[in-house]
Amino acid sequence: MSRKTAPKPDPLDLAGIDDLLSPEEKAVRQAVRRLCDASVEPCIAGWYESGELPAVRELARELGSLGLLGMHLEGYGCAGTSAVEYGLACLELEATDSGLRSLVSVQGSLAMYAIHRFGSEEQKRQWLPRMATGEAIGCFGLTEPDHGSDPGGMRTRARRDGSDWVLDGRKMWITNGSVASVAVVWARTEDGVRGFVVPTDTPGFSAPPIKHKGSLRASVTSELLLDGVRLPADAVLPEVTGLRGPLSCLNEARYGILWGALGAARSCFRTALSYAKEREQFGKPLAGFQLTQAKLASMAVELTNGTLLALHLGRRKDAVGLRPEQVSLGKLNNVNKALEIARTSRTILGANGVSFEYPVMRHMANLESVLTYEGTAEMHTLMIGQALTGESALR
Ligand SMILES: Cc1cc2nc3c(=O)[nH]c(=O)nc-3n(C[C@H](O)[C@H](O)[C@H](O)COP(=O)(O)OP(=O)(O)OC[C@H]3O[C@@H](n4cnc5c(N)ncnc54)[C@H](O)[C@@H]3O)c2cc1C
Repeated sequence: MSRKTAPKPDPLDLAGIDDLLSPEEKAVRQAVRRLCDASVEPCIAGWYESGELPAVRELARELGSLGLLGMHLEGYGCAGTSAVEYGLACLELEATDSGLRSLVSVQGSLAMYAIHRFGSEEQKRQWLPRMATGEAIGCFGLTEPDHGSDPGGMRTRARRDGSDWVLDGRKMWITNGSVASVAVVWARTEDGVRGFVVPTDTPGFSAPPIKHKGSLRASVTSELLLDGVRLPADAVLPEVTGLRGPLSCLNEARYGILWGALGAARSCFRTALSYAKEREQFGKPLAGFQLTQAKLASMAVELTNGTLLALHLGRRKDAVGLRPEQVSLGKLNNVNKALEIARTSRTILGANGVSFEYPVMRHMANLESVLTYEGTAEMHTLMIGQALTGESALR
């Protein structure tokens, strides 16, 4: 019997999960990494500190030129990649910053997906090709000041006036809002919740930015104000009525997040590992202390578990599709574990851990938003609970 010598693994991938990826999947990952390293990494800490995402339109075009916008959608200029390739792209984007991944998620999985899945042929032709190239940025308005986890209570209304629709209301915490050319806005109508494709230059529409954020600072977040926004009859998304519409879009975006959070975690872990090897206290590197090794080992285990879960869910999505509770399982676990990894990495960096000279504090603060948006950790817990027991504990 021949004995094989197992190759020495990469410390960032101790289990050798990379071997489960195809050359095409690795190529997508590599291309995204290259773009992030060249165009965003050198600037991201500064943007974060100043709370801006300058040249966001140029950035969107660059992301579009690589096929990253609506990348898992078919046709209309979209790349039509697999769910796993989309997930790997999200991971690399978020290893740079959750704000960058949010830009791509909201564009592709929320705004474009809504139009692609529920839009008319004309709406698809009008918006999707321009959104795929990044020429048009989209946003997705569901949350309101008084209705977050419970969007069914939304107050934004769309009423008929002749054949037109007139929208009034207010949306809150909307990613990409102030830089969007098109907003997918969900509003209550006589027939239930409907989605509307709103060009943002329509009179009565405005999107003031939300300032003073302590998280996702390199991401545009806005209010949407709808004051008698008059739209033609064909502005409504024809193929869906009810909350099933926005919730199925959220399910798509949550899938990207369960991969993306691992990118933020990997960046923190990598930083902590190299810091622990370099920094000496009591005459030896931090990495030589058992307590530090326990932290590093536990982070490596969670990163491995989370990546296996993401890859399994991705393969399953490509093969048979995912149930919402399966996406909840992934989002809940991977964001929670990413936050734990960020916090543990922060402790290894000591005081330097709170400095923006290192990416850890930035990722940690970002992950607080990631924990809350696209369904809070509590909502995902309740969805899993319902799937397990058949009982809804939401109300
Ligand atoms: C940076 C950022 C970007 C965002 N981008 C978008 C976007 O592009 N589009 C969009 O529509 N929204 C967006 N959101 C909004 C986000 O989806 C909401 O914040 C989220 O759904 C939670 O709503 P809320 O903040 O109103 O919290 P609430 O719903 O008020 O919840 C507050 C707390 O109560 C808990 N809670 C609520 N109900 C229950 C219950 N039944 N049982 C137990 N606990 C409960 C929640 O889990 C949470 O911990 C964004 C948010 C942030 C922070």
